[in-house]
Amino acid sequence: MNSQIILIQKIDALLPQTQCGLCGHRDGCLPYAKSIAEGEEANKCVPGGQPVADALANLLQRTQLPAVESVWPVQQDGRPQRMKAVIREDECIGCTKCISACPVDAIIGSGKLMHSILTDLCTGCELCIPPCPVDCIDLIEDTQNLLTDADHVIEQNDLRTRYYAHIQREEKQRINRKGPVVRAEIDTTLFAQFANQTNNTSKIEVIENTQQKNLVYDAQTTIELAKIRTQIKKLEKQLSVREDAKKQALLATLNQQLNTLQGG
Ligand code: SF4
Ligand code: SF4
Ligand code: SF4
Repeated sequence: MNSQIILIQKIDALLPQTQCGLCGHRDGCLPYAKSIAEGEEANKCVPGGQPVADALANLLQRTQLPAVESVWPVQQDGRPQRMKAVIREDECIGCTKCISACPVDAIIGSGKLMHSILTDLCTGCELCIPPCPVDCIDLIEDTQNLLTDADHVIEQNDLRTRYYAHIQREEKQRINRKGPVVRAEIDTTLFAQFANQTNNTSKIEVIENTQQKNLVYDAQTTIELAKIRTQIKKLEKQLSVREDAKKQALLATLNQQLNTLQGG
């Protein structure tokens, strides 16, 4: 294993694995770890707070910097208050949007049925809240005992494994996806490269759409494909904010047209 990967691994091991993106890295802790290894300041992990910023500064032998502040008050251990999400279940319309938004698969439910959050697994990352069309997810304080350093390590390893399993599932669905994309596409290649060079997380396979890869389109078809893709993206964006049966039907038709043009 090369020394840069070892360094990224050590940095990643100190990050909470909440995958919330509050450090400015949309895809979560690993891209931030990579960027820190390349020189980015190491005080931007919001849920990690001052303890994580200091641990990173020690590891990297850099000056300690004040951690970027959270909107939540600081707990006794110096980290921001831990939160949990709860669904007001009688208001849930079972749209499933929160499921694919949750990086650690803490939500259970299926189409048109009420959804629930597995409280023990929820990290309070808030990523399920914006996609919910009826705004029925609340955040409440986590009242459980504070975690010890050893508990943090166990929790982080578990969350990393859950996130990588989530990425693999999203990757498998990516090619044949029919529904709206709730979370922006994850940079699977980065995670696959990392996971395949370490022994402590499950491997991630990047799935290539070989059917698409081998096709050569004429100019007219290329223009048509570009138009359809733009319309699909626009509709997916609109549907991620608000449900609309007509737009959903149009999206299905466009996806069908796209598949047909692509020879699927
Ligand atoms: S837990 Fe910290 S490092 Fe991980 S995504 Fe959130 S802010 Fe970034
Ligand atoms: S249930 Fe919501 S707040 Fe909890 S981990 Fe999943 S996305 Fe984050
Ligand atoms: S996004 Fe909201 S309405 Fe849709 S399933 Fe989740 S909690 Fe229910």
